[in-house]
Amino acid sequence: MSQIVVVGSINVDIVSRVADYPVPGQTIHSQSTAYYYGGKGANQAVAAARAEGAVAMVGAVGTDPFGAEIKGALQQQGIDTSAISVREGATGMAYILVNDAGQNQIVLTLGANGTVTQEDFSQASMETAKVIILQNEIPWGTNVSVMQWARAEGIHVLLNPAPAIKISAEVMPLIGTLVLNELEAQYVTGRSVGSKEDAVLAARDCIDAGAQEVIVTLGEHGSVHMDREGSGTFTPSYAVKAVDTTSAGDTFIGYYAAGICSGKPVAEALKLASAAAALSVTRSGAQASIPTLEEVEQFMN
Ligand code: ADP
Repeated sequence: MSQIVVVGSINVDIVSRVADYPVPGQTIHSQSTAYYYGGKGANQAVAAARAEGAVAMVGAVGTDPFGAEIKGALQQQGIDTSAISVREGATGMAYILVNDAGQNQIVLTLGANGTVTQEDFSQASMETAKVIILQNEIPWGTNVSVMQWARAEGIHVLLNPAPAIKISAEVMPLIGTLVLNELEAQYVTGRSVGSKEDAVLAARDCIDAGAQEVIVTLGEHGSVHMDREGSGTFTPSYAVKAVDTTSAGDTFIGYYAAGICSGKPVAEALKLASAAAALSVTRSGAQASIPTLEEVEQFMN
């Protein structure tokens, strides 16, 4: 029975490697192009499952050839896929350009992700749920309904508002854990976030607005964690050679949620999440780059 329920996006990622990004009007050759399974929701579900959490996914895929294949692949990871609907039309897609510096630029097509409603969520078995994980690649109204339901049921919500969205004063208090990267922290708080100190201030803004716990991730510069009692603690990142940072944040989130659900103290769960995310950036792809718990434990020792 699932402790971790991810309500979110399921995508095919089409990844092209380029030396540098094209400017408007320019056509360039890619160095290579590959297909991967992605979507922030599915990535975070896979990360939590590879961290050996008990995971269910709520979402939708299309009737195109990708849909059934992706749903099957999630099931093979041990994820409960019974609340993933199949809808007429396209599966969600992400077009990703990775440059020689290991940075990425992403254009999202909603596809079936745009059809996910509160009704899909109510198909999921929630008796054993400890945490619900949300992002911003399905309709925001669905996320808000799920957060309101979770609040009424006393279930912890972890929200990763990516792509970035302004969070209203009514919604902020519904959030148990808010996970933001630098750009999202900037967008949500309106504050420029370029250092640990800025991240602490941004996290404090979100706590003051009602979130119970905030994590601001700073890529290779680590992450800042703050809760209602704390003044902000810093977790360094592991030094690795970055190949593709596409799903670093998703790996971090899935591992953090699974760590907390397995009873780890916050500091330990953060360390585990950083190690898993660091390993993921050494590999190409989204779900394919997410390490297993065994690999992460070996890396940490
Ligand atoms: P996102 O992928 O959402 O943009 P970040 O880039 O902030 O999120 O990465 C999330 C976490 O992944 C970081 O806090 C860090 O622990 C780890 N991480 C990201 N990039 C690197 C890197 N180049 N080297 C080591 N760890 C990294």
